[in-house]
Amino acid sequence: QAKADGKGRARLFEPAMDAHLLFRKTFEADLRGALQRGEISVHYQPLVDTETRSICGYEALMRWQHPVRGWVSPAEFIPVAEDTGLIDALGEWVMRQALQEAARWPDHFTVAVNLSAVQFRSGALARTVISALAAAGIRPERLHLEITESVLLAASDQTLATLHQFKNLGVRIAMDDFGTGYSSLSNLRSFPFDTIKIDQSFVRDLSTGPEALSVVQLIISLGTSLGMETTAEGVETEAQYACLQALGCTHVQGYLFARPKPARELDHAASPPLPEDAAADGEPSKTS
Ligand code: C2E
Ligand code: MG
Ligand code: MG
Ligand code: MG
Repeated sequence: QAKADGKGRARLFEPAMDAHLLFRKTFEADLRGALQRGEISVHYQPLVDTETRSICGYEALMRWQHPVRGWVSPAEFIPVAEDTGLIDALGEWVMRQALQEAARWPDHFTVAVNLSAVQFRSGALARTVISALAAAGIRPERLHLEITESVLLAASDQTLATLHQFKNLGVRIAMDDFGTGYSSLSNLRSFPFDTIKIDQSFVRDLSTGPEALSVVQLIISLGTSLGMETTAEGVETEAQYACLQALGCTHVQGYLFARPKPARELDHAASPPLPEDAAADGEPSKTS
C-alpha cells in the first residue's frame, strides 16, 4: 500500500516499518529470556474489606524490569506474551510465586491471580493450578482467579469446563474490568462468578457526573442480587471510597490504600489510610 502512494513515500515508509519490526523482534527476544534472567517479579496490591476497612487479601500483578528500559508496563508486555505463547510460562510462574507468598500471610487472606484467555487454550491450566495449590499448601478457597470478558468471548467448551473445574475445587472466579468488554450482562449468565470487579474507569468518573454513579450503582446492585461480591478498582480518594461503601460495594482496591508493592514491603497490619489522609486530599476546611 505504501508503494501505491509513490516511490518517495514508500522509501520513507519502509525503514519505519523495519524499525518497528526490529523493535518488536528485540522486545520479544528480551521477553523470551526475561524469566530466566530474573527480570520478572510479582507485586501485590491489598484488597480492602469495606465492612471493616481492613486488608483481607492481595492481587498479584506481574512486573518486568528490563535491563535497559526499566519497568515495562504489563499493558505493554502481556499482549506480546500472549501473541508469542510466553504467557503460559510467565503465568505459571506468577501463579506458583503468588501462592508460595500467600502461604506466609494470615490464613484468611485471599490471593488473586490474573489469567489471560490464552492460558485456557493449552488444556493444562487446571493441572497447573492444582499442582501450584498443593505445592504451596493453600486452601483453594483462598485463591481468586481473575478473568476478563475476553475469556468468555472466545469460550470453547474446554474453557467452560476448566472454569467449572476451578469452581468444583472451591477456587473463586472474579470477572475483571467489568463493564469495559462486550455483552457484559450475558457473560454474567454464562458462568457463576463469585466476584465482579468494577473497572477503574467508572470509579475515576464517579465524581464527574451522574452517569458513572448510575453505572456503578447498577453493577453493585446487580452483583448483590446475584449473590456476588463487588470489588471496585482504582479507588484513589476518600470521597470515592465513601460513595462505594454507601452503595454496598464489598471490597475496594486502589492507591488510596496502597500501590502494588514487592512482597517484602507488605504490611498486613497496616492500618488503612486514616481520615487525616483524606483531609489532605481535599480542600482544607479549617479557614472560612
Ligand atoms: P488489572 O488486573 O485490572 O489490574 C489493575 C491495574 O490497576 C493494575 O495495573 C494496578 O496497578 C492498577 N491500579 C491499582 N490501583 C490503582 C489506582 O488507584 N489508580 C490507578 N490509576 N491504577 C490502579 P498493572 O499492574 O499495570 O496491570 C495492568 C493489567 O495487566 C492488569 O489489569 C491485568 O489485566 C494485566 N496483568 C497484570 N499482571 C498480570 C498477570 O500476572 N497475568 C495476566 N494475564 N495479566 C496481568
Ligand atoms: Mg485483575
Ligand atoms: Mg481490572
Ligand atoms: Mg485491567
